[in-house]
Amino acid sequence: MTKFFEANEHCALQMDAQDPLAQFRDRFFLPGNTIYLDGNSLGLMPRDSEEAIRRVMQEWKTQAIDGWLHANPPWFYKAEILGALAAPLVGAEENEVVCTGTTTVNLHALVGGFYHPQGKRTKILADELNFPSDIYALKGQIKLKNLPAENHLVLVPGAAGDGQLLDENEIIAAMSDEIALALFPSVLYRSGQLLDMPLLTKKAHEKGIIIGFDCSHSVGGVPHHFDQWDVDFAFWCSYKYMNGGPGSPGFLYINKKHFQKEPLLAGWFGCVKEKQFDMSLDFEYTRGAGGWQISSPSALSAAAVQGALKILLEAGIERIREKSIRLTEYFIFLVDRLLPPEKYNLTIANPRDPERRSGHVAVQGNGNIWRIHQALKAGGIIPDFRPPNIIRFAPIALYNTFHEVWQTVNRLKEIIDNKEYESFPAERSAIT
Ligand SMILES: *Cc1c(COP(=O)(O)O)cnc(C)c1O
Repeated sequence: MTKFFEANEHCALQMDAQDPLAQFRDRFFLPGNTIYLDGNSLGLMPRDSEEAIRRVMQEWKTQAIDGWLHANPPWFYKAEILGALAAPLVGAEENEVVCTGTTTVNLHALVGGFYHPQGKRTKILADELNFPSDIYALKGQIKLKNLPAENHLVLVPGAAGDGQLLDENEIIAAMSDEIALALFPSVLYRSGQLLDMPLLTKKAHEKGIIIGFDCSHSVGGVPHHFDQWDVDFAFWCSYKYMNGGPGSPGFLYINKKHFQKEPLLAGWFGCVKEKQFDMSLDFEYTRGAGGWQISSPSALSAAAVQGALKILLEAGIERIREKSIRLTEYFIFLVDRLLPPEKYNLTIANPRDPERRSGHVAVQGNGNIWRIHQALKAGGIIPDFRPPNIIRFAPIALYNTFHEVWQTVNRLKEIIDNKEYESFPAERSAIT
């Protein structure tokens, strides 16, 4: 592979020609005439997912109720099977991961099971830059314990500077003996900052704090080593970097040291498999991640996840990460080279160190940034916008090319040079 980047088109084409993951692009449905850079919000549809969904539709048609045990794989075991398949992506053992629920529902189930305010230790530690849904859920969990959320949710603010990044030292300093549980995102959804999960876990445990992570913005793009890091629990969605489909089931991880812990948001799919249909009124839960399921798995959308997982595992998470870093490095290189801040008023909001960021590039702008975003979209380039002033570009290792990155940054320059954004409205729409 070319060692250094150059700003010319040839360099982009050469990197594509030497890309060991290039063949995976054909395994996805690419929306026509677009450069899709929004895989951090909704990954593209894998061909394998379509095939897997067709299979379940056929099984449902022909086997009906028998599909629960006789489909391939049986719907009854689907959550555990997909959990086991995903385990290597996060450095876990097979029974520590299950495919179930959705991100926020899994947060409720896990925090509901792990948050036990006692004596002086009654608070939850989180951060001001997390995805709002997580914060709403944490406030709800505190209120469920009859405690006031105003002073029981301790939020670490954005670090000095532009407020888009967190300083791990400030998080650690906030780990007081009043904190019962800490929950952080692996990656900040605006700035793409990848938090130091092993360090935070180690420090939390030194202070006697249970710690969990929302890894929606990293699983499928970044390798994780939950067992090695000794994380207590984690959860993540499957529709971003995992390409599992809109609203597809999420995943959760439970460290095996907590297998005896009783899942309190209990449901019958958490039962020991062989006993679930005994219909006993005593909840004999599975000692494993499977015990934290609440409801029946959604066989159709789990099929989409299965197809997507097949590709992730074939490509290998280490190779995915390697290409992803190169794509974002290249993107940042081109922005630095072609769009000098004094003239273009754009800055990179990501950490510059590739080990400290996930898979998207956050370009922060001035008053025209929303209009620039619209001009990009009108021309077939699909990033996404996060208020107040960030465009996120996610070049995905499995299906984006270096040439697409080159085209995108050049287009960005053109839009600004020619003031094309001026023909777009300044007001925002509901979904960006
Ligand atoms: C995407 C994302 C969610 C989404 O929550 P759903 O319950 O799946 O709608 C929640 N938290 C974080 C950190 C996310 O990145």
